[in-house]
Amino acid sequence: MDIEKKFIETIKKYKLLNKKDKVVVAMSGGKDSIAVLYLLKKFEYKVQALMIDLNFGKWSEKNLNNAKLFCNQIDVKLKVVNVKKELKYEMDLIQKILKNKKNLSRCYVCGIIKKWLLNKWARKLKADKIATGHNLDDECQSVLMNFLKGNISNGINTGPKTGGNNKLNFIQRIKPLFYIPENEIKKYIEKKQFNILYKKCPYAVETYRVEIRNWMKSISDNEKLKVVSGWQKVIPKLKIKKIKKIQKCNICKEFCSGDICSACKIIKECI
Ligand code: SF4
Ligand code: ZN
Repeated sequence: MDIEKKFIETIKKYKLLNKKDKVVVAMSGGKDSIAVLYLLKKFEYKVQALMIDLNFGKWSEKNLNNAKLFCNQIDVKLKVVNVKKELKYEMDLIQKILKNKKNLSRCYVCGIIKKWLLNKWARKLKADKIATGHNLDDECQSVLMNFLKGNISNGINTGPKTGGNNKLNFIQRIKPLFYIPENEIKKYIEKKQFNILYKKCPYAVETYRVEIRNWMKSISDNEKLKVVSGWQKVIPKLKIKKIKKIQKCNICKEFCSGDICSACKIIKECI
């Protein structure tokens, strides 16, 4: 099945969104988010792009330029949110401080801040859904990583859609590329001749995820699909309590499971 058919089939089968929904695509400027944005626009969904500018030197500049050019080409609005303007600190500095003080990895810190800013801005843009470019390889990596690290509860939300609670103002996240292998997306993008930066983030090298990704080169796309689908079948059988209590963060008023959300805890360490 080609990638466009898989994309539409995933949206329909899992009821990810309808044509009335406003969907905000979390852009990195890389191939996956460009593919999601292009396909949503092609199939006439109400789409807008949102990019968190991490200011990681030339890599960020190139990705930002690609995203601007691409959105312009396909006539999609792009909102760029700059970490430094939002938080008064560069992401690089926040990561260094948290590494020194709490021994937290760069990606952990970056992931929390990005998610927090995406939620905040998607709400400001009145989004019904946030779409991300996670593909089959990303999902397989996450399943294996959580399993090997013994963080089983981290994987209970694996699936093409997560979150979403209108009462609590949580915006649902959708992953229309969930069942599409990375190399199929790469071929599709190359065929379309979109201007994409294939280089990974300069800080991706230090993560455990990279070790898993390298190991995954030895397994086929079909085996990756089996890992992810197998895990999805296991989830309902796990007796893991999801979240104990949902409340508003005392500082930013975002919903979280404690008094202060993880993003505000990180920001507090930098003051
Ligand atoms: Fe952030 Fe780079 Fe890690 Fe991705 S790889 S979470 S962009 S630091
Ligand atoms: Zn907070």
